[in-house]
Amino acid sequence: MKIKSAEFVVSNSVVEKCPQQPLPEYAFIGRSNVGKSSLINMLTDRKSLAKTSGRPGKTQLINHFLINDNWFLVDLPGYGYARVSKSTKKTFQKFITNYFEQRQQLVSAFVLIDIRHKPQPVDLEFMQYLGEKEIPFSIIFTKADKLKPKAIERHVEEYCNHLLRFWEELPPHFVTSSSKKIGQDEVLGFIAETNEE
Ligand code: GDP
Repeated sequence: MKIKSAEFVVSNSVVEKCPQQPLPEYAFIGRSNVGKSSLINMLTDRKSLAKTSGRPGKTQLINHFLINDNWFLVDLPGYGYARVSKSTKKTFQKFITNYFEQRQQLVSAFVLIDIRHKPQPVDLEFMQYLGEKEIPFSIIFTKADKLKPKAIERHVEEYCNHLLRFWEELPPHFVTSSSKKIGQDEVLGFIAETNEE
């Protein structure tokens, strides 16, 4: 998919106020600092699209970007830095779970994982939550440039093996680097494919 246009539309914290157009949308989420803004900019070939919404005060919002006038890219707040809590419900802010549970237009979520790190409880919990709600998602491993090719393979395999302890099937997964522009075609190709269905 070629990105012809990418524009910021709106930020808000209430799912009911999200854009009403019946366009397919794809939501990006992950722990703070996982590389989400950089990934969104890399995918859309824009230097600071995500930063538009990343300025202070806007980071805790649902941010909609209209891409090629035919789908929405949604930048969701980072999770996992809130106070540790015992229940998933409290770990993930209510407006995020409202978004996932109510947004009819959502085709798929992308859960971002820093490829250098071992599986973290908060990420696993979040994927578990999506699974329970039957919300389709893929995993995007970020910052692949930080590892050598062999280590990338090993880390992805370890992560997938870990998931297979709890999941019968692996979600689709992508290896990306925003600094080296790796994975753009694969992620956009996946969006184009599922967008047409
Ligand atoms: P966010 O908080 O998830 O939006 O993360 P940012 O996109 O702001 O990135 C967090 C930090 O990781 C910044 O210092 C980025 O420069 C760095 N970073 C993000 N993506 C990459 C990447 O692909 N490779 C490397 N080496 N660093 C990255």
